[in-house]
Amino acid sequence: MVPASTFRGRKVALFGLGGSGIATAHALTLGGAEVTAWDDNPDSVARARGEGVAVADLSAADWSSFSAFVLSPGVPLTHPKPHWTVERARGAGVEILGDVELFARERSATASNSPLIAITGTNGKSTTTALISHIIAASGRDAQMGGNIGRAIMTLDPPAADRYHVIECSSYQIDLAPSLNPSAGILLNLSPDHLDRHGTMQRYAEIKERLVAGSETAIIGVDDSYCMQIADRLERGGKEVVRLSKRLPLTDGYFADGTDLMEAVHGQYSRIGFLEGIGSLRGAHNAQNALAAVAACLKVGLDLGEIQSGLESFPGLAHRMEQVGRRGRVLFVNDSKATNADAAAPALSSFSRIYWIAGGLAKEGGIESLRSFFPRIAKAYLIGEAAPAFSATLGGAAPYEISGGLQAALEHAAEDAARDVAGEEAVVLLSPACASFDQFRNFEVRGDAFRDAVLGLSDIEPIGGKR
Ligand code: ADP
Repeated sequence: MVPASTFRGRKVALFGLGGSGIATAHALTLGGAEVTAWDDNPDSVARARGEGVAVADLSAADWSSFSAFVLSPGVPLTHPKPHWTVERARGAGVEILGDVELFARERSATASNSPLIAITGTNGKSTTTALISHIIAASGRDAQMGGNIGRAIMTLDPPAADRYHVIECSSYQIDLAPSLNPSAGILLNLSPDHLDRHGTMQRYAEIKERLVAGSETAIIGVDDSYCMQIADRLERGGKEVVRLSKRLPLTDGYFADGTDLMEAVHGQYSRIGFLEGIGSLRGAHNAQNALAAVAACLKVGLDLGEIQSGLESFPGLAHRMEQVGRRGRVLFVNDSKATNADAAAPALSSFSRIYWIAGGLAKEGGIESLRSFFPRIAKAYLIGEAAPAFSATLGGAAPYEISGGLQAALEHAAEDAARDVAGEEAVVLLSPACASFDQFRNFEVRGDAFRDAVLGLSDIEPIGGKR
C-alpha cells in the first residue's frame, strides 16, 4: 500500500467506491488524512463501510472544509456532463484529483528519482505495460505494475529508488493527474475512441499529450498524424523526445524493419533486438509495443541483453492474440478481446492461413473494413447473431459456414485445419469482430470458453502461462 501522506492532517472527500476507490480511501487514511467517502450506489457504500472506510453522504457535506476531492476515474469529470460532486467541488474551489495524482505526489515527496514508467495511447496500453513490467521483473528487479491494468495504483508497494513502477493510464486517469511526471512517459498511438467521454478528438489528444509533456523522456509512436504533431511540438519546446515507428526508417529513434528492432542515430541504423520467433509479439502492432518497451527500459537503466531476454520470455496477455495450444502444424489463438472489426485487424494481418471464428453481436459496419484480409481466410466459421450479415459480406471472397455456437465452430475449424495441405502454419483464430453479449457475459468469458474447448481437443500441446 502507498500511504498518501501529502494530505496528512487534512480533510479529503472521495467519490466512487469501486475497488480502486476503497484502496484510495485506505491509502489516504494510512497517510494521516481524514476521509469522507461516498458513492451513488448504496451497495458500494455498504461494502466500503464493511471494509472500514468512513462513509457519509457528500451531498450533505460542508465542501468548504475539504482540502481536496478524489474522484474515481469511472465517474464523469467533463462528459457527457460533470458529475454532481464535480460541480460541488468546483463551487467550493476544492481541487479535484485521482489516485494516480496521489501516487505522483507521494513519489515527488518521498522518492522523486524512483523509476516510473507511465503508458497511454488508444491501443496496446495493457500489452505494453505488461511487457515492460515483465522485462523489468525478468531482469531481477522489483517491478510494480498497476493503474488501469491489474492492481489499483495505491495498492502497490511505495516508490523507492530501486523499485520500478509501471503504470497504465487511461485518459480519465491522466485528466485527474496534473502533476504526473514519470521518468519515461509513453504515448503509443492515437485514433478516435471514447469521444463520448471527452467530447472532441482534439480534447482527447490534448489529455493524452499531458502524460508525455510531463515526462522526463517522452516516448511517442509517430505512425499517426496526431502523435507526430505532439512529438514535434514537445521537441520544439525542448523536451527529450524518443520517436518510434512500426514501419518507417526514422532519422533518429527506434523503428521496426520486419521483425528486427532498429535504432537510428542521425540516420545511422543498428539492430538492437528482434521479435523473430516470439509468438506472443507477432504483428506490426506488437512491434510498436515492443519498441516502446525497449525505449522505456533503456531509459530506466536496463541493458539490451536484459531487454531481449525479457522480450523472448514474455507470455503475452490473455485474450489478445493469446497462443493457447498447438497440434501439429496448427496453432490455436484466442483474440476474444477483438470486439469490433478494427480490433480484429491486427490478428488477421499477423497470420497468412486462417481458419477464422468470427461473430457474436454485430457492430455497425460489420466486417467490410476487413475485406483486404479475406484472401488469408482459408475458411470462416460464423457464430452468433452476426453470422448472416458476415456471410453476406464474405460472399464469394472466402469460404464460410454458419456454425452457430463456439464449440461447433472450433471443432469444425480444427478438423479442417488438420487437413490443410498448404504446407505453411495454419491458425485457428477466434477474433470475433463482435461484442459477445448474445452468447457470453463478456469477452473474457468468451475467450475462456474458447481456451477450455481448445485444451479439450485430443493431442493438443498447450502453450501456457497467460491466465
Ligand atoms: P488497450 O489496453 O489499449 O486496450 P491491449 O494491449 O489490451 O490495448 O490490446 C487490445 C487490442 O488492441 C489487441 O488485441 C490488438 O488487437 C490491438 N493492439 C494492441 N497493440 C496495438 C497497437 N500498438 N496498435 C494498434 N492496435 C493494437
